[in-house]
Amino acid sequence: MDRIFNGSSRYALFGLFVVAFVGWSTAAEAYGYKTCGGNKMRYNNQWTNMYISTTSFPAGSSWDARLQNAMWHWNNVKGSTWDFYVGRDTDGTHNRSNGRNEVYLDNGLSGSTLAVTKRRWHCYWAFGWRHGYNETDIGFNNNVSWRLGALDYSDLNDPYSFEGVALHELGHALGLNHEDRWLATMNSYYPNSGPVGHWKAWDPLPDDRQGARFLYPDSTTESDVAGSAFRRTGSGSSSRVASPTQANRGSYVTIQFTFHNMSTARKTFNIGFYLSTNDYISTGDRLLGVNTGAWADPGFSGTFSRTLYIPRGVATGQYWLGFIVDFDDGLSESRESNNYMEMPRAIQIN
Ligand SMILES: [Zn+2]
Repeated sequence: MDRIFNGSSRYALFGLFVVAFVGWSTAAEAYGYKTCGGNKMRYNNQWTNMYISTTSFPAGSSWDARLQNAMWHWNNVKGSTWDFYVGRDTDGTHNRSNGRNEVYLDNGLSGSTLAVTKRRWHCYWAFGWRHGYNETDIGFNNNVSWRLGALDYSDLNDPYSFEGVALHELGHALGLNHEDRWLATMNSYYPNSGPVGHWKAWDPLPDDRQGARFLYPDSTTESDVAGSAFRRTGSGSSSRVASPTQANRGSYVTIQFTFHNMSTARKTFNIGFYLSTNDYISTGDRLLGVNTGAWADPGFSGTFSRTLYIPRGVATGQYWLGFIVDFDDGLSESRESNNYMEMPRAIQIN
């Protein structure tokens, strides 16, 4: 689009002659956000319309519901004023320079690419830097199989979570790049550090929330800590936390556990570790141990280990180990439902 200048010439321009640098960006980028003349690149309106293809994702379908849920989760990040609005694209076509943000199934994508977000922006100097996103289109690979229900811990391969990938691509749409240094929805690789809590909610993780707050700040606040069954496994990659599948009564076991501080401020809290006869960990289950005085700053996600004693008195059988972040309810949170986290596999106690 338009003319592209090289970096050395842009400062020599006279103000009457505006040279636009309009570029394309796909999913493969550096972490963080794009800049223009040192300024953060974003949608200057702090909102945008996403036109959902009704031929790919019929209005009222589960696809549509999952997409809108992912949009809502970004809109609901406190400390950020960003909003996606829903539009409908009914013509069955898409075009990356028509000024409309389109979301569709793409038959042209192949291989391991699950989805591609194409962003078009402007960045030029005319007595000051002028910059911002103009258009963002999201294509989901129509040649892979998609899961519309909850993630299955026993199989992180296909079918892929449509809502999880949508949340990641929508993060690109509002201006975030990849972040591969720690757990983040904007990790390069599926499952993008996973969902949170027993109900497997796909919600932007702490670092992603900080990114949205940086690009589109507002003064609203959020108090929320969450548990996760995922851990970082390398640059931009993640998988399930480790936990044993068998143990004897009267022995010690070690599990990994991850918590996220989704809040806009530092939080201090206690964590309870439990043994449950089902995969829903509750304060009614057998308490095996407590970590007191855990704390985390905004943006923090971390994975830790905890050794627990399996009492001699429990009956043999199948159990789940798990934990509850802020189990004693010291924090007043916007979401309590993401604090309960079982290990991503059962344990047989003999
Ligand atoms: Zn990406």
